Amino acid sequence: MLSTILYLLWALITVRADQKLQPDEVNTVTPPEETFPWSQPRLPTSIKPEHYFLSVHPDVGSDSFTGQVRILITVVNDTSFIILNSKDLVIQEATLLGLSVPSLIYQEARPVQSQMLHRANVAQEKLVKQPMALRVLESEATEQLALLMDTPLVAGHKYQLSLSYSGKFSDSNSGIYKASYRTPADAAPRTIVATHFEPSAARKAFPCFDEPSMKAVFSLVVVRRSEHISLSNMPKLHTEAIEDGLEQDYYQTSVRMSSYLVAFVICDYAVNSAETKRGVKVSVFAANHLINQTHYALQSAVEIMDIYEQLFQIAYPLPKLDLVAVPDVEAVGTESWGLVTFREASLLYQEQRESRRSRLRVSLLTAHELAHQWFGNLVTMHCWRDVWLKEGFASYLEHIAVRHLKPDWCVVS
Ligand SMILES: [Zn+2]
Repeated sequence: MLSTILYLLWALITVRADQKLQPDEVNTVTPPEETFPWSQPRLPTSIKPEHYFLSVHPDVGSDSFTGQVRILITVVNDTSFIILNSKDLVIQEATLLGLSVPSLIYQEARPVQSQMLHRANVAQEKLVKQPMALRVLESEATEQLALLMDTPLVAGHKYQLSLSYSGKFSDSNSGIYKASYRTPADAAPRTIVATHFEPSAARKAFPCFDEPSMKAVFSLVVVRRSEHISLSNMPKLHTEAIEDGLEQDYYQTSVRMSSYLVAFVICDYAVNSAETKRGVKVSVFAANHLINQTHYALQSAVEIMDIYEQLFQIAYPLPKLDLVAVPDVEAVGTESWGLVTFREASLLYQEQRESRRSRLRVSLLTAHELAHQWFGNLVTMHCWRDVWLKEGFASYLEHIAVRHLKPDWCVVS
């Protein structure tokens, strides 16, 4: 309920991602004498991200995107800087707004009353009352931003960190990237936009605390042309028409998850949908002329979801699951929560024209990425050093699932 209220408030006051900043709003000029205050490749634990409100406008007609992210953070330890990840982004503005009264965190330690009141008073004085412009430093080597302030942040308080930024589409299918395809009827190629953030490319799409253990909830707004649709991890709430023929889609707030699992797609695809036994809507999206090749993947995905829920005795925690066929992409599949993207050839299957081996390939890959919806997405390794945990489980479970799905195939497990 609280997250919904915050989301609506933010929706009312947010500046659209495509709105241009005035020159006097730009504050990226950095005093040359300031040095980057953090030397570790991992982020400090003094700040905990709680809720991201991300508005992004990937301009399909250009080579760039713009965005605005507001992050509700809790201060764990007093600090005079915030370190978070960013790569190849241009930060136009960074501000901070205090949100809370002194937290009950002081009561948890059970100090004597006078000590508690003293600390609370100090905290109240330090609390930022108005949006405060932050000085921005960047470390390209560690892919980090340092946001510096004159008034230290106080442990136990909550703040809203806001950043406006822009970036370029990725050439490597890592981050936000464009892909194109042709239909038999069209001479000109059509363009779609997709994302791939694993392991550490969410920072190429928006400034964030880009470590698997720094989970938060995400409320996305995706700006797109009216002839396109957008997809994201969660179901769409509503759409709003804005200027220049653009529309923006507001999405439900996500479950708590790692930044590498955030995803969105902008496309003009057709859809093929069905439901699991428990009523979770499963959809496969593909170019209109290829949609008749999605039936096998859809049937497999629905059955595999039922198999996993039965096997794990844990319900899939999202209300929907989308599988998207992306042309010209390097990764065969990604496991973004609720929005799984596949290399087109890895998801599509033509009955009567392709071999049983092709069908097995679709089944195994679908089973692998859906296993990650639990192993990796729901239960996550603390850091990337332990990525073998989720990959090991998913690689094992893909065979278990297919053995249940097609007992006569004699899949080794
Ligand atoms: Zn995997």
